[in-house]
Amino acid sequence: MTDKSHKPETIAAQGLGWIDETTRAVSLPIHMSSTFIRDPDNQYRSGREYARSDNPAYDQPEAVLTALENGKAAMLFASGMASASACFLALKPGDHVVIPKVMYWGLRLWLMDFARGWGLDVEEVEMSDLAAVKAAMRPGKTKLVWIESPGNPMWNVTDIAAVAEIAKKAGARAAADSTVSTPVLTHPLDLGCDIVMHSATKYLNGHSDIVMGALATKAEDEYWERIAGVRSRVGGIPGSFEAWLLLRGMRTLFPRVKAACANAQKVAEHFVKHPRIEEVLYPGLKNHPGHAIAAKQMSGGFGGMLSIRVKGGEGAAIATAARVKLWKRATSLGGTESLIEHRGSIEGPGAPCPMDLLRLSAGIEDASDLIADLEQALDGNS
Ligand SMILES: *Cc1c(COP(=O)(O)O)cnc(C)c1O
Repeated sequence: MTDKSHKPETIAAQGLGWIDETTRAVSLPIHMSSTFIRDPDNQYRSGREYARSDNPAYDQPEAVLTALENGKAAMLFASGMASASACFLALKPGDHVVIPKVMYWGLRLWLMDFARGWGLDVEEVEMSDLAAVKAAMRPGKTKLVWIESPGNPMWNVTDIAAVAEIAKKAGARAAADSTVSTPVLTHPLDLGCDIVMHSATKYLNGHSDIVMGALATKAEDEYWERIAGVRSRVGGIPGSFEAWLLLRGMRTLFPRVKAACANAQKVAEHFVKHPRIEEVLYPGLKNHPGHAIAAKQMSGGFGGMLSIRVKGGEGAAIATAARVKLWKRATSLGGTESLIEHRGSIEGPGAPCPMDLLRLSAGIEDASDLIADLEQALDGNS
């Protein structure tokens, strides 16, 4: 078993060092049961009754994530969206929540449409502007401040500690979507957040072969209980095999994320002054407006995600994406393979994403191959 004295790299690589006591297996068995035996005296002494509320297949991946996030507990969900929406569904109609202007579009859409319709008072602010965040607080009414840093797909950086402090002073909780930062680079709970959220589809799993979400919490309080209630009653739970795959993916989280960060940094630095590129958006570049804060709250790299704005507008951007041979033209992020996406085609005209933007998820290939492929793709824009 690993213990608290061990480094997170060690904890992840060994999945906390758990073994199966019955078989002495190093990789734990996959529990597929949907239901559990009730004892003759009518008790559930195992603590388990039905797999919608609690599944032994989640124990190890949840414990690993709890350890990596320095939290008290973690919960897996059927998708990142199921985990994020649970944080809002655990509130009450009439509650006020503050969200960033630049954030994962799917969640923004759900908040603007479903959550507002359901009765949440959803307010957008530019989270890099602390005065704006402060001004948005309504003590007694504001219940949750949602942070995403770096924010999809412009990679705006939010000062997590400062925003969490503002939320706390106003009596609100702070939650951070840390999908892009990963537990390798940033620890939102240590920075004052109450909840950290991941689309485990992305870096935590890392192989583009499952859809899953996860939350970790600083306290097992009444809010956490309500979130657990949303999971078990609404039922957005992952399958047992997917939970097992997540653990397998998390064992290599550290080397994968470090390799992706190094590649993203190299690609960003190579293209920053490129004649066919308007702008490279990456917090690891010194001229990025959020660089100093990112350097303070991210350690070991600035993430594997960057965006490029292609000279010539939307047409040139789409044409560039059409010419890549090695980068995969696909949505999502955080896999071992590099992905490229014309983000405007997904987010649509109402979103803050500029139409000349290509979002890049750096994988773990050789950086010179990635750079050469983008070079030839951009070369066609003459
Ligand atoms: C993908 C993603 C989500 C949504 O997660 P799913 O697993 O696709 O439901 C939320 N936030 C960020 C930052 C993401 O990249």
